[in-house]
This record gives sequence, structure tokens and C-alpha cells, in this order.
Amino acid sequence: MDITGIERAGGGGLTDPQGRRIDYVRLSVTDRCNYRCTYCMPERGIDHIDRADILSFEEILAIVRCFASLGVRRLRITGGEPTVRRDLVELVRRLRTVPGIDELSLSTNGHLLAELAVPLRAAGIARLNVSLDTLDADKFAQITRRGDVARVRAGIEAARDAGFATIKINTVAVKGFNDGEVAALCDFAWSRGLFPRFIEQMPMAGGEMFLPGELLSAQEIRDLVAAAWPQARLVPDDGGGARGAGPARYWRLDMPGGGTARRFGIISAMTEHFCDACNRVRLSASGALHACLGFDDAVNLRDVLRSDGELAVIAAIHLAISAKRPGHTFGLLGIGGPRKSMISIGG
Ligand code: SAM
Repeated sequence: MDITGIERAGGGGLTDPQGRRIDYVRLSVTDRCNYRCTYCMPERGIDHIDRADILSFEEILAIVRCFASLGVRRLRITGGEPTVRRDLVELVRRLRTVPGIDELSLSTNGHLLAELAVPLRAAGIARLNVSLDTLDADKFAQITRRGDVARVRAGIEAARDAGFATIKINTVAVKGFNDGEVAALCDFAWSRGLFPRFIEQMPMAGGEMFLPGELLSAQEIRDLVAAAWPQARLVPDDGGGARGAGPARYWRLDMPGGGTARRFGIISAMTEHFCDACNRVRLSASGALHACLGFDDAVNLRDVLRSDGELAVIAAIHLAISAKRPGHTFGLLGIGGPRKSMISIGG
């Protein structure tokens, strides 16, 4: 179908029953990952999607065109680990040409970033998130089960040189594991012109990998930052240039005598949830459209595309958005989350 036909069918906007405008898609390009972070994936026995069921580049582009016709302007490429998808750079180049898509960003564990930072930036990735849960090599190997922090740090340096608009360092906050490093991770990011963010751990996969006692809350994170800089004042902030399309709330340390703003973000799905401002949906690597990370419900756009084409995909997207829930039901004890993991819903 030609793009004008799709644009007409899209009708220009997606609003859910709560009146939330949906203009942001997290696009998973693979459910494979080269790490096995303990809060995200089991070490073994993972049921991967069959290769035949993974969306091809043509299918991804067709679905993204549909979203663009519905007013989606920003895409975040994620996974699994997106950099393990073969020819990712070529996919980015092609996504960049979809009319209506204004911004492409990418979330990565950084393992392959030293080689890929420059080509990804050149292909059109504007903003980058790199996961980094600890600066300690042994602890990093422990939490990722197979990661190499030196490699990730080299990847971050390559990304700094590559000229991304923002680079955020995403840390899943785990009590008893990295609470002692909150200040060091802030320093690491600030001293490199990067942006630290802390993520409250969520009970994905039926809460199997979630220990309630490990939940480090948004308030506890703020307290740890405040305690590390007692002479500074901690104030809410708009995030400045780091504010993307995402749900992080931002904070700033005002130092006595001024100086450069020291900002950080917190993604607090558990203790200070942001469902009322949710603007996103997630497309899994097999084309399942999840309107909410907190539930397993999905509409399979791959099947719709393969059988009925792009107009039917637009109708299916409308259907999924019309069933978007008001909010997730993650309980603080880890009860009530989805059966699926981040990698299968599209982290
Ligand atoms: N592999 C890529 C990465 O590392 O950014 C993209 C996918 S990963 C699932 C996206 C983010 O979700 C990572 O920062 C990861 O640490 C985080 N994550 C995974 N499981 C989580 C959980 N149970 N709770 C909170 N964050 C989680």
C-alpha cells in the first residue's frame, strides 16, 4: 500500500480510554540477549521465539509505518539485547527514513557498543541508554552472569566520542547489591557528561526473579543521593535535555555556590508509579503488541500483517489501545505482574 493510503487510514492519532495520548513505541528487535541479568532472565531454560516468528525488517518497517500514521513520533529500539540482531545498523538506517518518525533511540547493555557506537549514531540513533548496574568487575559479572564491565565501559567511551544527543546510564537498583554505589554511579555519569538513572526493580516473569527485600525505592534512592552530598539541596527537576519520551522523574542537586546542574532520573514503577502519564506501547520481536508492560495481553500484529496487510494492522493497533489498562498491578510483594519477562514483552 502507498503511504498516503496508510496515512488516511491512520487518521492521525492514538488515544486510549483514559485519554492518554500514545505517541511512543518500544520496539524489540530480538528476544536474545548476550547477558543473563539475575532480575531479568533465568540462567538456563529460556524459551526463545522461533526464528520464523521473528519480524523481518520489512515487517518491522511496515508496522512502524502504521504507527507513524497514527501519530507515533518516537521509537526506542530494545530487546533482548538489540545489538545482537544481525544488521541492526541497516535496520536503523531504514527506520530513519519512515515519514513521521522524528526520533530513534536505543537501549543496550553496551557489550557490543565499542564496535557499534559510531555506525549506530551515523545510521540515525539520537539517544542512547546503556545499562550499568555496578562499576565493580566481580559484581558486574555476578549480576549479568556473563558480562564484562571493562567492555561496557569501553563501549560507553566510544559512545561519548560518537556524538549522541544524550547518553543515559540505567541502573536497576537492588538493595544489598548496589545501594552502596548510588553515589559512585552518579559521579561516574556526571564526570563524563552522562545522565544517571535508577530503575526500581519490577516483578516480571511472575515475580520469579524478584525478591521484595531487594526493592530499593525511589525515596531510598533520593535519600542515598542526598546523604552523599549533604551540602547540596535536592530538588525536583524537568530533566533538561535528558528528558526523553520515557517515564523517568528527574531530580537535581543544587550545590552551594552554583555550578553545573547535577541531575539524575528515577523510574519508579513500583512505589511512585506513573501509569496516569503512560504514553507508550511495546512491540515484541515476534510482533506482539503489548499495551501495558504489567500484563501479558497482546495483539499479534505479525499475524495480522501476514494475513491481511497494513490497513488491518492499523485496525488491530486501535483495538489494542482501546483495551489499554488504566495501570499495572505490580504489587510491592511482587504479586500481580505478568507471567512474561521483559525480554518477551519488549524491555
Ligand atoms: N538489553 C537492553 C538493555 O540492557 O538496555 C535492552 C533490554 S533491557 C530488558 C532494558 C532495561 O530493563 C535494562 O536497563 C534492564 O536492566 C531493565 N530490566 C530488566 N528486567 C528488569 C526488572 N525486572 N525490573 C526493572 N528493570 C529491569
